[in-house]
Amino acid sequence: MGRPRKCRWVEMEPGITFFKPQGIPLRGLQQTVISVDELEAMRLADFLELTQEEVAKRMQVSRPTVTRMLARAHRAVADALVHGKAIRIEGGDYRLNAVQIQCGACGHPWVAPEGKDLPPLCTECMRQEGEGEGEKE
Ligand SMILES: [Zn+2]
Repeated sequence: MGRPRKCRWVEMEPGITFFKPQGIPLRGLQQTVISVDELEAMRLADFLELTQEEVAKRMQVSRPTVTRMLARAHRAVADALVHGKAIRIEGGDYRLNAVQIQCGACGHPWVAPEGKDLPPLCTECMRQEGEGEGEKE
């Protein structure tokens, strides 16, 4: 009987979950799969350049788990690039560490990472507000 696998915290779900090489019809195309939690590990470690220690803290897993997730994800990406395979992002043991809040100005619902100081406005209203500040009368 195995231990229940620990859930990994993810701050962002991928907007795009399928990548394919150009000019190759989908059928006959091989795929590699990266799970959502593995992609999150890549986002934090490779893109935001956090240390594996920090990634482990953010995702609430052990450091060796982060090392394993990154190794698997890197291998899948390399496989896709080297062999011209498609990449599908799906599945994994993860929980979304984000809350849906409603914008105080336009009422538009938006998703923000949990546990941060949340601005009362959505990114769109914040942008407009920021532009308005530029023009002083
Ligand atoms: Zn708004």
